[in-house]
Amino acid sequence: MAKGKVYLVGAGPGDPKLITVRGLEALQRADCVVYDRLAGPQLLNRARVDAELIYVGKLTDRHTMKQEDISRLLVDLALRGKTVIRLKGGDPTVFGRVGEEAGLLRQNGIPFEIIPGITSAIAVPAYAGIPVTHRDLASSFSVITGHESSDKLDRSIHWDKVTNATGTLVFLMGVAKIGYIAEQLIKHGKPAQTPVALVRWGTRAEQRTLTGTLEDIEERVKKTDFQPPAVIIVGEVVRQRQSLAWIEDKPLFGLRVLVTRARSQASELVDKIDELGGEPYEFPVIETRLPESAEAVEAVRAALAEPESYDWVVLTSVNGVDYFFRWLKSIESDIRRFHRARFAAVGPKTAEALAVRGIRAHTLPEQFRAEGLLDSLADQLKPGQNALLPRGDLARELLPRELERLGVRAVEIDVYETVPTESRDPFLLEMIQNREIHAVTFTSSSTVVNLLDALRRLGAEDPAALLRNVDIACIGPITARTAEENGLHVTALAQSSTIDGLVQALADGRSHHERSTD
Ligand code: SAH
Repeated sequence: MAKGKVYLVGAGPGDPKLITVRGLEALQRADCVVYDRLAGPQLLNRARVDAELIYVGKLTDRHTMKQEDISRLLVDLALRGKTVIRLKGGDPTVFGRVGEEAGLLRQNGIPFEIIPGITSAIAVPAYAGIPVTHRDLASSFSVITGHESSDKLDRSIHWDKVTNATGTLVFLMGVAKIGYIAEQLIKHGKPAQTPVALVRWGTRAEQRTLTGTLEDIEERVKKTDFQPPAVIIVGEVVRQRQSLAWIEDKPLFGLRVLVTRARSQASELVDKIDELGGEPYEFPVIETRLPESAEAVEAVRAALAEPESYDWVVLTSVNGVDYFFRWLKSIESDIRRFHRARFAAVGPKTAEALAVRGIRAHTLPEQFRAEGLLDSLADQLKPGQNALLPRGDLARELLPRELERLGVRAVEIDVYETVPTESRDPFLLEMIQNREIHAVTFTSSSTVVNLLDALRRLGAEDPAALLRNVDIACIGPITARTAEENGLHVTALAQSSTIDGLVQALADGRSHHERSTD
């Protein structure tokens, strides 16, 4: 069998967008992804759906896999002909043990590539507003491991040289040893007032910064129970944070938000959350597809067989528009055959989806639960007219009822159906339990029902209880009602039933979340 290849890839410090283009491309092609906790879990969504995901990090009930075993695993997978990604936090060559892994691959004649990543040593300070060098304050920086016993630290670190280096000192893996590190630096001549910052989980929702001086930092770490992982920065550049801190000012900073929408539909919501400084966590619980049952297919075909008979075509969602056109294509019809029909769209997004296809539609208001939805069309809707309503299988009853009330015959067709997604996220349940998911967004009733089902399938006995401490944000009153009926407590309701409205509601409701610790 031909040998596979191993890519040793830096995943960056946590924000999934901080992987390199080359790293992402390798990830998207891989057969197997070997990863641990420092590589952001959301990056795994970028792997192929059929890629094998192998976790080699810490578990609560068992210890980390030994380095020899991980290296061996990479060799074995490659010998089976696989393209393997070893995804590592930050940069693989910075305390990433890449030497051992690459060494064993070389010994076994397995081709490999090292794809650098953005190291936490630089990126994490940057996200806290601390540049590691500065024209006036630091002309060099050193990256030092703090992950050793004190006497081993003494042997590996030349405290006298380190202390008197001109630049910034950056310690990784050093939280547990902060007292010893500070003491040694003072002992070897650093002023006790030298500023120090600890930045925990930089670039992620949990990013927190603690500042102090060499003299008092240990006490502050103890007092605030400041936990690893963190990057420790020692030097004058730390003061820059007072004027350069930036990420904490974003309205959704610190909030990890679950996005339950179908992946094909999620990007707008994901991008908005990201833009506002939140951390979107995609967990699609539904997807849409062409209907599969023979009756459903027959019903659509029959309704589309006589396009000339319609006076109106009313579209209620972007999905509806997309699938309507997919159908026209698959039955080899032509939109121009609907020449008798006027088009109406519920909401501006739906109207836009029609506009890009060259159809200018009358836009109906989004609030389509309200009676009187069709008021603006009342003088144009005539008894005896025919209206085609291409929609999803879960669309509601109001619109056809309103049309019938005005004497218009409504022909409804399910141009797509919504089905639950099989999810394979190994972390979600634990993250909710640990309160690492801060908010959940629901964009339809089916996302509510399907999230609860998905959580049950992942092993939650009472999913609504599990979500008790999580903010629940809903796009509109009907979705909110479904959420409440299913035992959830809705904390944020969009004022306008749009993605913008939903994100705004999240931002308005987030004030009770803590921010940075300093
Ligand atoms: N190869 C990695 C470092 C691995 S050592 C890199 O280049 O970033 C692990 C240490 O890195 C942690 O103990 C912590 O000190 C630091 N670290 C990694 N990611 C971090 C993050 N998001 N926030 C704070 N520290 C981080």
